Amino acid sequence: MSQFARLDMPLPPEAEPAIRVADRLREDGHVALLAGGCVRDLLMGAAPSDYDVATDATPDKVCRLFRATRKVGAQFGVVLVRKRGEWIEVATFRADGRYSDGRHPDQVTFSDACGDAQRRDFTINGMFLDPSDNSIIDYVGGRDDLDAGVLRAIGDPIARFGEDHLRLLRAVRFAARLDFQIEPATLAAVKSAATMLVRVSGERIREELEKMLGRRGRCIAVRLMAETGLLHHLWPNASWSRGQIEAAQSLLACIPDDAPFELAFAILLADRDGMSVHGICRDLTFSNEQRETTAWLVGHHRDLDESDAIALASLKRLMAHPAFAALRMFAEARFAGMSDGGRRTERLERRIGSIRLDTVQPAPFVTGDDLIAAGAVAGPVFSDVLDEIYTRQLDETIASRERALELMQRLLDERT
Ligand code: ATP
Ligand code: MG
Repeated sequence: MSQFARLDMPLPPEAEPAIRVADRLREDGHVALLAGGCVRDLLMGAAPSDYDVATDATPDKVCRLFRATRKVGAQFGVVLVRKRGEWIEVATFRADGRYSDGRHPDQVTFSDACGDAQRRDFTINGMFLDPSDNSIIDYVGGRDDLDAGVLRAIGDPIARFGEDHLRLLRAVRFAARLDFQIEPATLAAVKSAATMLVRVSGERIREELEKMLGRRGRCIAVRLMAETGLLHHLWPNASWSRGQIEAAQSLLACIPDDAPFELAFAILLADRDGMSVHGICRDLTFSNEQRETTAWLVGHHRDLDESDAIALASLKRLMAHPAFAALRMFAEARFAGMSDGGRRTERLERRIGSIRLDTVQPAPFVTGDDLIAAGAVAGPVFSDVLDEIYTRQLDETIASRERALELMQRLLDERT
């Protein structure tokens, strides 16, 4: 254990609620440390997404010490404590027993910080920080691995991935996000255990994919998933040709860092038909909105290729879609790989720039009420007629309600 290392900067103000919780536990005679991801991020000079506390106080004791608490995973020793408007996760040091479901330990026993470090997944995630003196408590060699840019399982990697198969994807996620090398024995274990991923629920896989593909490093993540075989076990019958994977990687390398997850996922599914995309998104328990967005991006990803040739109404309909910005990123990433890509990007920019924003989704000149007033009977004709009039409005071939009503009458006459 490296005993004398200290964080060489003050803790940021966001750490305050967790520090308060730790202070209170210490006042009561307990050990209380910041743990896991926040220690890793602080040592790397990055902003932690949250601060978790680990302690030798039992969950019951934690609940007695603080006014507002919620037992979320009491069987695993986890209690949420409300401090300064935030919920801080306080976990009792524990050692995990056997895993028979590939996800949860059958039982846990409370232990000390050293024991608790051993049940964590990777060395860089297994460190503690004592907020009373900013010392780093490292029983697993996390500091050295962090400095060397290495992702290493704590303990026997084969056993660790066998316990909780989600760790397979977590290994890829952390290596990709930090641009770390996966240590050889850990990498070999990911490869040999890759097929176990089929036993992980679609929901947990989707949550990992969202974190992995929703930020920079997504291109490395896909490369690592391909190299380790994980890609082919993300959902039943997942398959890609080598060419498809390479194409996806080049596109992912070209989209902006803050591109949405749905775009990255749509790039992975680019060649699939609508039915398959919807099926895959359902397997992975996407929300309806995520699924619709992904399918829309896959379905329309070539639509902007010849931007000068798109009918004005069609382009406006694309532009009116909430995911249009993502569609444009998709198109521009594709252009980046084409010999005349620069010109295509310019043409698209000019074409979009030529359209006044207030004409993209104007209130329709004519509505269903007008059709009813004209004596039309609701049915398929209804939406056909409305659609045609709105297309002409978007095309700017009719410019007033009067003209639109005339067109309506003509269309109704033709159809009756
Ligand atoms: P992030 O910044 O993405 O939240 P994190 O390291 O905080 O990264 P969490 O999933 O929030 O990751 O988990 C917090 C800590 O709990 C981890 O750092 C790790 O020590 C431990 N942990 C989480 N999931 C597992 C797991 N499946 N197996 C073992 N340890 C885990
Ligand atoms: Mg976290």
